[in-house]
Amino acid sequence: MAIASTIFRARDLEGGAQHLVFCLVAVVLAAGVFYVDTYTDIEGAIAVLYVITMLLAAQATTRVGLLAISGCCAVLALLSYAMTHGDDGDLQSTVRLIVALAALAVTTMLLMKTESARLTLLSINSALKESEERYRSIFDRTRVALWERDYSKLHALLMNLKRQGISDIREYSRANPGFVDRCIDLIDVVASNEAAREMLGPNGSAMGALKRTILPTQDKFIDVLQAIADNRRVFEDKAVVRTDSGEDKLVLLSISFPADPASFNRVVVSMVDVTQREMALKALAEAQAELTNASKAATVGAMSASLAHELNQPLGAIIVNAQTLLRWLDRDPPDLAAARRSAERMIRDSERASEIIRNTRSLLAHADGKLESFRLDDLIDETLTLLEHELQRSGTTVVVEKEETPLLKAVRIELQQVLINLITNAIQAMDEAGSGERVITVRKEKQDDDAIRVTIRDSGPGISAEAKEKLFSPFFTTKASGMGMGLSICRSTLEARGGRLDGGNHPEGGAVFAMSMPIRPETDHA
Ligand code: ADP
Repeated sequence: MAIASTIFRARDLEGGAQHLVFCLVAVVLAAGVFYVDTYTDIEGAIAVLYVITMLLAAQATTRVGLLAISGCCAVLALLSYAMTHGDDGDLQSTVRLIVALAALAVTTMLLMKTESARLTLLSINSALKESEERYRSIFDRTRVALWERDYSKLHALLMNLKRQGISDIREYSRANPGFVDRCIDLIDVVASNEAAREMLGPNGSAMGALKRTILPTQDKFIDVLQAIADNRRVFEDKAVVRTDSGEDKLVLLSISFPADPASFNRVVVSMVDVTQREMALKALAEAQAELTNASKAATVGAMSASLAHELNQPLGAIIVNAQTLLRWLDRDPPDLAAARRSAERMIRDSERASEIIRNTRSLLAHADGKLESFRLDDLIDETLTLLEHELQRSGTTVVVEKEETPLLKAVRIELQQVLINLITNAIQAMDEAGSGERVITVRKEKQDDDAIRVTIRDSGPGISAEAKEKLFSPFFTTKASGMGMGLSICRSTLEARGGRLDGGNHPEGGAVFAMSMPIRPETDHA
């Protein structure tokens, strides 16, 4: 069996039968040539006819077979020569033998070459087939919806318009209302994969279905036409498509146009359904906006609490001084000098109360989201004043390292919210862990020519390994009454302005959060 397969080409029964016929005819022919060469008086290079045997055998044998048959034919020619001219070999018959053997050798060589070319071709063919099958199976099985579409007629139409000097397709389609429909009709769907049929429905890829899929109200198709007219190689955008069942889906549409105009009959179109993702993102953005508002409300709440706390003291003093003043006046004779001193103290306390109210007002006036220039030190001082009550209650000391930093351009209230959040988190962490010495260190430094970094370090328990990974994820909290939105909002607030926020543990203990922000943002990022 192994020998047969090295000699014969056939790999199946049908081919085997055909090849057997070729071999039999070749054997009969070889026998005929041998007979005529040996037993007849015909003068001539009869042995040359062995070449025909070779040509016939070449249809059925491999290169090994060819060599074997060529060898047999040469032996037959020599045998015939020996039998007929063994004793008296003349020059003529010897030359005829040499010519016949040369013809056999040359034919064998040529046939061997042809056979190797045939084998190369066969292997290229099978590689091609395999690669085609591979790509076909990728096309069919991938979860991305794919279409092979013929855009050649559409391409020709658009190129024709271009030659006429029409390059603005949008304007042209406005002036010619039936143009878009005509263009859609020029596209043929050659093939689609299963994901494509799942996405648009079983008829989504059928002829004429494109008109249903492409919404008349949306301009995206005109953008595609413009991309073809501009000879762009790729078109990528979001688009809304309509399925068989009439449902609209938001997809990421991608079309690769070939460089060669002749290949516009095979354009690959892909779509990824992003409807759900887009809805989820929208819901998340809405939730974040709501929570940001909630956080702003919390800041205002903190401000009011601080206001109430700070006003309490001067108001209390005014009452005490008013009572004292009354007492001085009730004396007989009234002590006017003492009464005056009480009145002056009342005026001073009232002025302090007005000052507190004025400050809070100006703080709230900054809440309009505008970029403004200010000193970071002032902002930190102001924030610490706001949190003074909370800091005192928890017995926390704040150390601000006084390093000179340039004027900062930012939205003041936003940075204040981030600072309030980070300091409140630090106070709560130290509270929860019952830390003995409670210190928050605020350090500010120039990160480079364009950015400032503020780090807030506490002497609390630090961030656990579990919390580290999810620290900035929305809704991650380890507190019983926490919302888990503070750090997530702080990070997105800073990132929206071109800054960043990172958190981790300090090598000497406690948590440390680093916020960096551009000194002069070029534009209003948010
Ligand atoms: P919340 O304060 O509502 O929990 P945050 O997003 O502000 O939400 O914080 C998320 C979590 O990060 C906290 O629950 C806490 O586990 C951890 N965390 C934040 N700041 C610190 C800190 N300074 N020290 C230790 N853990 C912290």
